[in-house]
Amino acid sequence: MNIKKQLIDGKWLYAQSEQTREIINPFNREVIAKVTESGKADAKLAIEAARKAFDDGIWPTLSTAERGAIVRKIADLIERDQEELATLESLDTGKTLEESLWDMEDIAGVFRYYADIADKNAGVMIDSPIQNSISRVVYEPVGVCAQITPWNYPLLQASWKLAPALVAGNTLIMKPSEITPLTTIKAFELMEEAGVPDGVANLVLGPGNTVGTELSENVLVDLVSFTGGLETGKKIMQAASKNVKKVALELGGKNPNIIFADADFDIAVDQAMNAVFFHAGQICSAGTRIIVEDSIHDEFVEALVKRVNKIKLGNGFDEGTEMGPLISEEHLHKVIQYVEKGIEEGAVVVTGAKQPNDESLKDGFFYLPTILTECTTEMSVVQNEGFGPVITIEKFATEEEAVTLANDSIYGLSGGVWTNDLAKAERCVSKMRMGTVWINDFNIYFPHAPWGGYKQSGFGRELGQTGLEEYQEQKHIFHNLQPEAINWFGK
Ligand code: NAD
Repeated sequence: MNIKKQLIDGKWLYAQSEQTREIINPFNREVIAKVTESGKADAKLAIEAARKAFDDGIWPTLSTAERGAIVRKIADLIERDQEELATLESLDTGKTLEESLWDMEDIAGVFRYYADIADKNAGVMIDSPIQNSISRVVYEPVGVCAQITPWNYPLLQASWKLAPALVAGNTLIMKPSEITPLTTIKAFELMEEAGVPDGVANLVLGPGNTVGTELSENVLVDLVSFTGGLETGKKIMQAASKNVKKVALELGGKNPNIIFADADFDIAVDQAMNAVFFHAGQICSAGTRIIVEDSIHDEFVEALVKRVNKIKLGNGFDEGTEMGPLISEEHLHKVIQYVEKGIEEGAVVVTGAKQPNDESLKDGFFYLPTILTECTTEMSVVQNEGFGPVITIEKFATEEEAVTLANDSIYGLSGGVWTNDLAKAERCVSKMRMGTVWINDFNIYFPHAPWGGYKQSGFGRELGQTGLEEYQEQKHIFHNLQPEAINWFGK
């Protein structure tokens, strides 16, 4: 089996340690690839290459339209190779091929969106209060960007960082999750093919505590953009503080989905499942916290359980599979313990809460879709991100109570409200403390709208115009057209 390499300064290299890591298919534990295992020394080399490419290179000085053209080419190449990329993503993550194909479409869309807006905002003129002067603000790249991504949406999360960083004129070093690096490696091949110059986009592979720490603290890095868990986010902030660099954090979520009695019942039931069960619930924005009006609680739970029990688990490549496995054995154990703790705290299992008893799934890291009722905000299953196919259900009596429950979280990534009373919907969303709120929908996102969290879900925004601004510095240029002596000192 070929060992996949890291990309530093335009060269595909083995890691200095010569160690390798096996990449596993979570459906059957088969080794699907071997990758070189980068270490601190490799990260340092990649950072130096990115620094040199920024300081001496042509990339930051190309026009935004020229950079945009290369980024548009990346979108075209992703579209060209979408089947291969989607297959790799499903092998690596276990998600269904249909989901991975959607992801590839979204990813091409993200590169295309940033290519399109790249040259639409050259800066602003300021109305200078000083006579005979010109005052203006121009946007410049931040410099060398470290980008660290998680395993759940490997290439999608990477695209949210790569596309804006490149069009803005930065150079970068990306570190994908050590568990799911395959589509990111392939995307770097496509970026080379599209014409991204040597040293502009570097790729290191390997674990967070060595490679990730180096990327976060190294003095030559100007910005670290991270998507992943809350505890890792805290470590990255700390590491980045050593040399004071910009930090953008996209962290976890525990996302409420409020369902009022006047919502369209069948649609709300159907969408409550869509909100959670894609990629086996391993989604930062999964609507795992259902908060339902008490008058429809029993009927809602009954209808939900009926549908949930029909979810078909299996190989993501088999027709009819609706849900694949969890990402790893370690993660499966975390989800098992998370549910057990909830049960100890008083949550009642109405379905699931165990591994499937199905011979064809025995080699995969499967967990049954699970619904827990009688949940209250003090419970750990309601407060903590489980990152599995697990729904907790709470009840409310009044609109105010629904919003209070929804906001009772350290997280603030996203949430949803289902009602046919439009004024009520608007009142609720105006009080919900989250970066994205959906009315009569869930989990919709697109490149044009910003994505990010309130509270401990992080700071900074990806996607949209704001996602580009994260990768730009604003420089104020004041030009005095008629300089005169002031004679203030030493008169
Ligand atoms: P994780 O925090 O364990 O790892 C994420 C990345 O950080 C990996 O590449 C990992 O190697 C690296 N890392 C680990 N320790 C590090 C350190 N000390 N310094 C630097 N880098 C380090 O997260 P995960 O388990 O891969 O992903 C799941 C988490 O990601 C969930 O909490 C989920 O909510 C979150 N997530 C958030 C969003 C969002 O948009 N807010 C999107 C996707 C995933």
